[in-house]
Amino acid sequence: MLESQINKFLSLPELKFTNKRNLTNHIIQFDAYKFSEFEVCPKCATKSTKVHDQVYVHIKDVPIRDKTVYLRIRKRRFRCPNCNAVFREPVPGIRKGFRSTQRFRSHIRWCASNFTDLKRVTEKLRCSSWLVYKAFYEQLALDVKKLDYSRPKTIGIDEHSFVRNTKTHFKEFATVFVDFNNNRIREVTLGRSFDDLINSRAVDIQGRENVKNVVIDMSSTYKKFVAKQFPNALITSDKFHVVKLFNHAVNKIRIEIMKHPVFEKSKTSPMRRLYLTRDDRLNFSQRSIVRHINGLFPELEEIYKFKERMLSIYNIRGFKRARKAFTKLTDEMALSGRKAVQSLRKTLVKWQVEILNYFKSGITNAKTEGYNRKAKLIQRKAYGYRNFENYRLRLIYDCR
Ligand SMILES: [Zn+2]
Repeated sequence: MLESQINKFLSLPELKFTNKRNLTNHIIQFDAYKFSEFEVCPKCATKSTKVHDQVYVHIKDVPIRDKTVYLRIRKRRFRCPNCNAVFREPVPGIRKGFRSTQRFRSHIRWCASNFTDLKRVTEKLRCSSWLVYKAFYEQLALDVKKLDYSRPKTIGIDEHSFVRNTKTHFKEFATVFVDFNNNRIREVTLGRSFDDLINSRAVDIQGRENVKNVVIDMSSTYKKFVAKQFPNALITSDKFHVVKLFNHAVNKIRIEIMKHPVFEKSKTSPMRRLYLTRDDRLNFSQRSIVRHINGLFPELEEIYKFKERMLSIYNIRGFKRARKAFTKLTDEMALSGRKAVQSLRKTLVKWQVEILNYFKSGITNAKTEGYNRKAKLIQRKAYGYRNFENYRLRLIYDCR
């Protein structure tokens, strides 16, 4: 093989290859040295031509036809004429302190993404599972950095649980920022408190003044954060979370009522389903059952009707008409003597601006919920993540 060919093959342009040896049947070693007139001191950036001494380093490289490849590189150590420091010459393609080339680490990542199990990667590349793990996430971080971070106009924020792979199974939370314009996860941060958010990478999202819409669940923390971070955004309360609030209230009363002796004791009650389905999607006999039970329990009927009213409000077109219907609903709820209705009303009034903003923006967090499912899948596949940073990289890269 000609030297130029070897160089091309190894694509480390600054190295000159002098020798190739088969150390064993499985290991090839290339001898190499760097050629340069001078080196620059890393401390004070002064040119140095004075070679102090030389050392040999062994660097693992991408295998050639299943044979392990080592580069034995002669590295010169220079003495700086200015600050007198002694330093080793750097070699592009090999990061300082690393014992394998950049492209070997990138090759590990390729193998780890394409092989079904990591054990095969360690066998094929003859390296430790620790190196596979480390190189994988280090390369993933480089790929995530390269992703196109164009400025989003619409953002969805939601949380999901993040369980570390520890014995305590202490439950933490992750906050996800979804870029609706580019259909991908823009950022994932650990925690969901205001302090967590304000000290996270979420504040690095570019063009924060240009964000027009943000959809969130009814969390005061998220609201406070959005108001500060995306000052020009219209905040919309997620429709599904609003409906969930009503469903929750219906469910609570239903469960209370079902302790009544007329109901058979059973764990999987068909009643739950009936009451969580919207009225217009029930068939004739299902609807008769609901009507009948509601007739027996007026407290259930009342909240059920409020739930159906809220669902019908979401079918209204136009902000003004929706606002009128919503005000009518909360006014009627105010007349109720029941505690559950009052507490539900309190939440609705507190969030009425954001709830009604849906009729201006028309956005929901359905997309974000989809990413939450994906997040759960990623956590399960990895049997939990000890390291949140790695989890973040995985999630951003897989939902790009
Ligand atoms: Zn110097």
